[in-house]
Amino acid sequence: MVKAIRGTRDLLPPDTQLWNRVETTARAVFARYGFGEIRTPIFEATELFVRGVGEETDVVSKEMYTWEDRARAASEKAQQLTLRPENTAGVVRAYIEHKLGETGQLQKLYYIGPQFRRERPQRGRYRQFWQIGVEVIGPPSSGSESAIRDAEVLEMLASLLDELGVKGWRLALNSVGSSSDRPKYLAALKAALEPVKATMCEDCQRRAETNPLRVLDCKVPEDQATIDALPKIAEYLDEASQQHFAQVQAALDACGVAYEVAPRLVRGLDYYTRTTFEFTVPDGSGLGTQNALLGGGRYDGLSEMLGGPKAPGIGFAIGEDRLILTLQAQAGEAAANKIDAYIAPLGVEQNSAALALARQLRRGGLSVEVGDGSFRLKKSFETADRVARRVVLLGEDEVANGVATVKTFATGEQSRVVLGELVSALSAA
Ligand code: AMP
Repeated sequence: MVKAIRGTRDLLPPDTQLWNRVETTARAVFARYGFGEIRTPIFEATELFVRGVGEETDVVSKEMYTWEDRARAASEKAQQLTLRPENTAGVVRAYIEHKLGETGQLQKLYYIGPQFRRERPQRGRYRQFWQIGVEVIGPPSSGSESAIRDAEVLEMLASLLDELGVKGWRLALNSVGSSSDRPKYLAALKAALEPVKATMCEDCQRRAETNPLRVLDCKVPEDQATIDALPKIAEYLDEASQQHFAQVQAALDACGVAYEVAPRLVRGLDYYTRTTFEFTVPDGSGLGTQNALLGGGRYDGLSEMLGGPKAPGIGFAIGEDRLILTLQAQAGEAAANKIDAYIAPLGVEQNSAALALARQLRRGGLSVEVGDGSFRLKKSFETADRVARRVVLLGEDEVANGVATVKTFATGEQSRVVLGELVSALSAA
């Protein structure tokens, strides 16, 4: 038997109902803040991610699905292609390619779609996973560098999580400084790592040489004390970065959005500048050790790294799989969403009349299922009780008189209703 690939999953009903609710809510919230949807290809030139995400990141160095796409005609060249491991690089590529900066307007874009990373699968970590993300990007004259944009994105996230019903979320916030702050900090970090790196894990020893910032992401317990004693990036921010970070915090305070400053939060991708953040959920929210629900930050130099114009921006990506796991764990065994009515024809002779009635009710906006006249009454009732709030019985007598017998499961109430009044009767709570 051919099975789904390790780290990939089928999403089935009733779970997909929750996935749809999450996506519908996200779209509605994003629309209230003036965001429009962007859909970029699922695969791109490998070089986009190498340049955009950074060669020394785990994502690019270990986790990408990359292949050589052979030329099919003499006029075509073979290409290195990659399944997108994240969507920001693709959005910024599209921003550059379509010259969106030339509009002079701030671009407020969102996406919902699958991403691919060859990670070790575990609960909350998959090889194909979904992200719901947002990017605010534009020329500096559009106000894209302003701290108010950072705060607005964070406030929107807080509102979205509240509206979805996520309980106990926490916002961890940091600033990783500008591209001019970074070299000074990196030099200090490298110097501080020099005498201690030999005591650290293998990955850290390598990162200390190639990309010292990544050492701060290390999760190995034995390394934590060493890492806590390393210099903090906050001590190396220049005046402008400090001010920017203070403005973000002041705007969040004004909106009443709670946050904690997390000095070690540098995040896994190289393009971040200044504001970086992560939202986590408490233990027992279904995520195990993967408690980061979403992450994001500012990426003021990314467009230039990809050969585009100056276009500061900020964005985030919610791990939709993790959001769903959280909602499911926090809701416990929430009552399944039941349809409005289950029509039970009593005898196969009533099947056609039942389907015609279902058509009328569905056109009236009701959610309806139709059974089969060959079912025994007991089976019809059991099925109806499982999926619907009410059962509509349609026997020979009912069809002849243009009525139906309706039973409401919650109250046990039973009555005969004229067919013309069924839509309104079934719409009642
Ligand atoms: P990143 O793009 O690495 O900043 O990740 C943003 C969010 O995507 C994380 O906070 C996770 O919620 C989610 N995420 C990243 N990698 C995975 C994965 N392999 N499986 C499920 N969710 C993921």
